[in-house]
Amino acid sequence: MSPRLLTSVIDGAAVAGSDERPDINPSDVSDIVAIASSADAQMAADAVAAARAALPAWSSTTPWEKSVVLDRAGSEVMGRADELGDLLAREEGKTYPEARGEVMRAGQILKYYAGVVLQPHGLALDSVRPGIEVTVTREPVGVVSVITPWNFPIAIPAWKIAPALAFGNTVVFKPADLVPASAWELVDILNRAGLPDGALNLLLGRGSVLGPVMTRGVDAITFTGSIPVGRGILADTIDTGAKVQLELGGKNPLVITDHADLEVAVECAVQGGFGSTGQRCTASSILVVTAGIHDAFIEAMERRMAAWTVGDARREGIDMGPVVDPDQLAQDERYLQVARSEGARVIGGVRLESAVDGHYLTPALAVGTSMSDTINTEEVFGPVMSVVRAGDYEEALAAANASTMNLSAGIVTTDLAEASHFKRHSKAGMVMVNLPTAGVDFHVPFGGRGQSSHGPREQGTAAVEFFTTSKTSYTAPGAP
Ligand code: NAP
Ligand code: MG
Repeated sequence: MSPRLLTSVIDGAAVAGSDERPDINPSDVSDIVAIASSADAQMAADAVAAARAALPAWSSTTPWEKSVVLDRAGSEVMGRADELGDLLAREEGKTYPEARGEVMRAGQILKYYAGVVLQPHGLALDSVRPGIEVTVTREPVGVVSVITPWNFPIAIPAWKIAPALAFGNTVVFKPADLVPASAWELVDILNRAGLPDGALNLLLGRGSVLGPVMTRGVDAITFTGSIPVGRGILADTIDTGAKVQLELGGKNPLVITDHADLEVAVECAVQGGFGSTGQRCTASSILVVTAGIHDAFIEAMERRMAAWTVGDARREGIDMGPVVDPDQLAQDERYLQVARSEGARVIGGVRLESAVDGHYLTPALAVGTSMSDTINTEEVFGPVMSVVRAGDYEEALAAANASTMNLSAGIVTTDLAEASHFKRHSKAGMVMVNLPTAGVDFHVPFGGRGQSSHGPREQGTAAVEFFTTSKTSYTAPGAP
């Protein structure tokens, strides 16, 4: 059977582009998941125009109508979790349980915002001037461009698109070029759930072609991806004044102190660092380990990593799937080489030959690094962690706070004073105690500090900040 053709969706209609690109299974590159027809700049302009035209109608639907659409879409996503999870594992390469979990998460997010849309978001209060009433209402921002990365092909689009629609905005959505199929399914489900034509438009294709059009003529841009692309988008909006939300790289420290339970420390490290093949913005990348536990921890990690199984993302019982594509694999291997050349001892990080051609790398740990080493200052985005030895807790905290991409930081300790101190003094956007740095909830704010984030937080009720604009109205009712 030849792979199915996926097209863009503009104003409710399927629109083919001028170019086609295969959606390749990273576990077996001979398996073509789908063919994506790439949109061009004119199609991007058409999508923005369609979203603009759909705005008055969608923004004035009742909260109940919006809630029904989101809830219905959430039910379908969750009801098809086995099938969509399989598709996601096949096109992105995370393990089937991880992929199915991500699909369920997308469904939960849709249902969560189906509830949020029915909650009160405004304020009514008395003015400081007698007899005057003040109301603060929330209105849609307008047309929102949603640009997403490849590592969470359905959850990240869902956590941007659901609040955008819930608060009455219309959307132009461009997923990463590597993962068009999961995105296409999400858009198809939402449109069939009852969105009017043009409320949610999908553009498949390259960011370098579509991005410049998607940042013009819109009211807001929400982007998750790399720091250089995010910075470029921000620069592009200086003369348009569009609202911008950026979720960018992470270089996340996990502190392991002498008071840690060794088993908990190892599990937090491997789950946080190697889960989803380490391709998570919240992945633990730097393990800061205090002197008293350092050697025992490295030994325990070596044993745990030797038992870590790598293979086809859809095979039962494996711990880790392949790296997403040849470029990312080359990047992972390059950083391991640089770590070696800067004096690290690297455990693992071996290319695996398999019966089929896939991008397999065993998990890697670079031991004996310092915070100024290249591997600790640049994002690798693979199953690669490094270890920095710290004299004591204070030194470990300082090392953790030296990260310039502080999205999520963790500590493993049984000492309550250390845990409390770390929560208060960490300079990360999210802090985990005795938990992996990755793994977050959808009903609370998500975001980082430093170079990691820009603009209001995502998810939970925090999403109201980005996806609405507030209006303050004053009324003098006059004499009764
Ligand atoms: P990326 O290369 O920056 O791409 C992200 C998205 O931007 C893709 O859809 C890409 O399209 C598009 N794009 C490329 N050039 C563009 C341009 N000039 N204008 C507008 N859009 C453009 O990132 P990635 O490689 O997909 O994902 C990995 C990165 O995402 C890592 O740095 C990771 O830390 C970050 N990430 C951050 C978070 C967070 O919440 N902080 C979450 C997940 C991932 P193409 O696919 O066509 O290039
Ligand atoms: Mg990229």
